[in-house]
Amino acid sequence: MTTLSETTEILRDLIAFPTVSTDSNLACIGYLADRLERAGARVEVYQDDTGAKANLWATLGPDTDGGIVLSGHSDVVPVTDQDWTSDPFVMDERAGLLYGRGACDMKGFIAAAVAMAPLYAARDLARPIHFAFTHDEETGCLGGQALVTELQNRGYRPAMAIIGEPTEMRIIEGHKGCFEYSTHFHGLEGHGSGPDLGVNAVEYAVRYVSRLLELKDKLRHRCPPDSQFEPPWTTINTGALIGGVAHNVIPGKARVDWEMRPVQKSDADFVKQDLHHFCTHHLLPAMQAVDPSASIHTEVIGEVVGLEPMDQNAIRDLVVELTGANATDLVPFGTEAGLFQQLGMDVIVCGPGSIAQAHKPDEFVSLDQMVQCLSMLEKLGDKVSA
Ligand SMILES: [Zn+2]
Repeated sequence: MTTLSETTEILRDLIAFPTVSTDSNLACIGYLADRLERAGARVEVYQDDTGAKANLWATLGPDTDGGIVLSGHSDVVPVTDQDWTSDPFVMDERAGLLYGRGACDMKGFIAAAVAMAPLYAARDLARPIHFAFTHDEETGCLGGQALVTELQNRGYRPAMAIIGEPTEMRIIEGHKGCFEYSTHFHGLEGHGSGPDLGVNAVEYAVRYVSRLLELKDKLRHRCPPDSQFEPPWTTINTGALIGGVAHNVIPGKARVDWEMRPVQKSDADFVKQDLHHFCTHHLLPAMQAVDPSASIHTEVIGEVVGLEPMDQNAIRDLVVELTGANATDLVPFGTEAGLFQQLGMDVIVCGPGSIAQAHKPDEFVSLDQMVQCLSMLEKLGDKVSA
């Protein structure tokens, strides 16, 4: 299979770009753009505001709606403090396994998709095949959000997407979202002997946490009846409650670090609306009655939307047909899939390698997994050809 050797060579090149999320991915994106252009794709590169990062969007086939997106993130997690057998940025092949940072998460899939480009280009495609390669997935799906906004603004309407995160080529049709917040309370400091003269930020933070606990209960009752998730409902966790200095001081500042993992978008909206109402109508008026400058501010640390399993999912059905898979599954980790779903596309997560090797020293993807991935992508090309 010549495509396999081609793919491993591309993977070797990709691993050599140290695209750790803190650093630029421009060289890597430039390389991918060049390869896709040479294959005949129409390539667009969108830089972010810093100019140091970019997303790539490329199209083969007709210039129409209804295309299939092959999506991967170009960034990788750091190798700091990890004990690697070989240089993480030089691909090493040992016993049928390809080692290197990003091998499975997720340059393996990107290499396979790009290796298929000339084969797709040689076909008479009935619908477009798009390539979406993003930046900053590992730090909160920043590139994915920018790309989806860009597609929306340009009126592009692809119908389906495959997100090639490592699932050992299993078809994943859902994962929870992961929303992280820090809520800051600014009150008024004072002496502990005169509680009415200050605004006790810690006490207001505690009321906020109580509200989170009430919401936690309510979310169990909002559980979708057929939910396959574990646990099946949307969860909330209070991770940290920080504030105060001493027994006899009214604390002026407090912070609550919390997260929720929604199984459906409506739950996230419900929680946000409830907290907004609770703060503006209950907590803030009480705080500001003592000090008008008291405030509550919620900082969004990250909002990775979930991938909601759908009854109708054309790409799931298509890949089931192509691979002969007899089951689909859910995963506990977040991906960019939900962003594409919000654009109205049918989406699955399916890619080579295992999440067990992702983010770890001696990350690898097996040649066998790469063969399975290429076979799926090749059949996809057959299916999409006129
Ligand atoms: Zn990943």
